[in-house]
Amino acid sequence: MGSDQRVVRCARVSFGRDEVIDAPRDKKLIRYLYAHRHASPFEHNIIAFSATKEDWLEILREINNPTVQIYYSGGYVWLNLRNLINAYELMPKELLEAVRDRFPTVWSVVESGGEISDEELEHILYTTDEEFVRKRKETSSGWVGLVDSLELGTDMDYYTFVVECPLFVARQWHRHRFGSYNEISRRYTSYGVRFYIPGVLRKQAKSNKQASLDEAIEEPFNSRIISMIVKVVDTSMELYESMTQVGVAKELARGILPQFMKTKYYWTVPRIALDNFITLRTHEGAQKEIREFAQAIKSMVGYKGTDKKNKL
Ligand SMILES: Cc1cc2nc3c(=O)[nH]c(=O)nc-3n(C[C@H](O)[C@H](O)[C@H](O)COP(=O)(O)OP(=O)(O)OC[C@H]3O[C@@H](n4cnc5c(N)ncnc54)[C@H](O)[C@@H]3O)c2cc1C
Repeated sequence: MGSDQRVVRCARVSFGRDEVIDAPRDKKLIRYLYAHRHASPFEHNIIAFSATKEDWLEILREINNPTVQIYYSGGYVWLNLRNLINAYELMPKELLEAVRDRFPTVWSVVESGGEISDEELEHILYTTDEEFVRKRKETSSGWVGLVDSLELGTDMDYYTFVVECPLFVARQWHRHRFGSYNEISRRYTSYGVRFYIPGVLRKQAKSNKQASLDEAIEEPFNSRIISMIVKVVDTSMELYESMTQVGVAKELARGILPQFMKTKYYWTVPRIALDNFITLRTHEGAQKEIREFAQAIKSMVGYKGTDKKNKL
């Protein structure tokens, strides 16, 4: 699952330019990422090949690097492109041929040790994603798009999503560690800053200190406070812009932006962790905003119950 461009998308989301395709620059970016060991964008490409459990165990026996993560599920070995690059000498030859076809630029860069010239790069094929997102759902606080999936009916089927949501939703989401993330960096860019302004202000629940009721606070407080939120957001945005205009570093200036600010990231996740996310985050105990995202994801790719294997 994936393409050369998937690496570039997941790298360029850092500066909010993940939708741009520019093959000559993209190829150089892949070389740069590889040469400077900016490795996480490579994790959003997933490789599965059919093998026996013995084949898999043999690979694990040979690996002399505890960071390489290779899984076995449903008669397939599963790993991402970063892990494959780190363990490619242990992979079957036919698999490497298929990888070379699927990721011609990445593979040429890897084979050259990141030393490939601009001229050589020009002649290498560059593969792109067929579309930006296959499905997209809006929620009250943002949106989620299904970028790609590799479904073989196993616990380790993989999905890549692109998400735009408020910071506090992202903080909850990123606690789901089994999977890979690449996110916009407000150290790099002041581009496209957007905010979630809630339509209604839900009441604090009394029974559960973490939760809210599906009920707005009384008027006129609801409308008045929403207008005040808009004012505070506008004022903080003005201060942010004045700071960046006089040369304050973006990494510091961003401190003034409220948690209603939206962020954007790619999330590549195996089915068993995705089902776990759906179970935990569609539950009524989860915050409404993240619940809407979990429901949107469930409606796009379903829930298969694989997380029930976990006792804890
Ligand atoms: C309603 C709600 C309230 C929450 N409140 C808080 C809070 O107040 N503070 C807070 O910090 N977090 C909070 N969380 C986050 C929660 O503790 C989990 O971190 C989060 O839900 C991710 O779940 P997970 O670890 O199962 O998922 P993942 O990290 O995606 O892991 C998937 C699965 O992999 C396995 N796994 C992954 N990493 C490990 C590991 N290191 N060791 C063993 N097994 C592992 C487990 O089987 C796990 O279920 C809350 C979550 C919910 C849903």
